[in-house]
Amino acid sequence: MAPIDPHSFTDSTHPITTHISPSLYFDFSTPTIVSSALLTLCAPHTGDLLLDTRSLTITSVIDPTNNTQLPFSLSSDVDPIKGQPLTVSLTNNSKILIIFVTSPCSSALQWLTPPQTFNKKFPFRETCRKEGPLAGGDAGLACDESLWYVEGRVVEYFTMEQSIQPYLFAFAFAVGEIGNMEVGPRTKVFAESVPAVLDVAMKEFAGTEDMIRVGEKLFGNYDWERFDLLVLPPSFPYGGMENPQMVFLTPTVIKGDASGAQVVAHKLAHSWTGIRNADSFVNFVSYDRIV
Ligand SMILES: [Zn+2]
Repeated sequence: MAPIDPHSFTDSTHPITTHISPSLYFDFSTPTIVSSALLTLCAPHTGDLLLDTRSLTITSVIDPTNNTQLPFSLSSDVDPIKGQPLTVSLTNNSKILIIFVTSPCSSALQWLTPPQTFNKKFPFRETCRKEGPLAGGDAGLACDESLWYVEGRVVEYFTMEQSIQPYLFAFAFAVGEIGNMEVGPRTKVFAESVPAVLDVAMKEFAGTEDMIRVGEKLFGNYDWERFDLLVLPPSFPYGGMENPQMVFLTPTVIKGDASGAQVVAHKLAHSWTGIRNADSFVNFVSYDRIV
């Protein structure tokens, strides 16, 4: 056992995961996400593979090449920082499909009820990405195909071309009645589908493309392709997050005088310096050079 990260059960002698293809079925009534994740390892592996989990129920682990079950165990000991290690026993496997369900109290998920949204009608989930059919069909065995394609349900497909660290994936999606408006060639503003929110947000962030160009002059090409902005509902005033391709913003940044651009400049500067780090440098760059 060779731990390399105090916040993870990862064993450095195990092959790293190079690709994740998830299928996520959002059940607002429970509220849980019924999910599967297809992991691709950098090399075939025989023996135990340790993975980090928190507040998950593991339904099954499958070898997607022949749809057979793989032995696994989820530790009953919960580490306050690292969560619970999931151990999967592999025999020359380079792909594994994990079927799991989140818990209503999963700490990485924020479920907002309709009264917590601007229009008070639809629930909202912060934190779905799916890249194409998996073993077990389009739903990737996350749920029954008939449930996946039930009439009126929206199924979104998404491919992320740029490599990102696995921890960034946790902040990657928002689900609800979300509209969008274009504010630049690389930027759309997403928010609750209410003109009162979207129109104001569009005006606030109208100068985003100019800021990206300033950033490119300072540091070189913007490599993430898109720089979209998601304004979270009014009951989510917990700051923002510089997710690659789509920044999440607290609704408090919309003041009506374009001053929210400072926050966007800060988030934008992270595109070159790294996500969740170098904040003092990012502040220097964003406030003194970009805005
Ligand atoms: Zn920052």
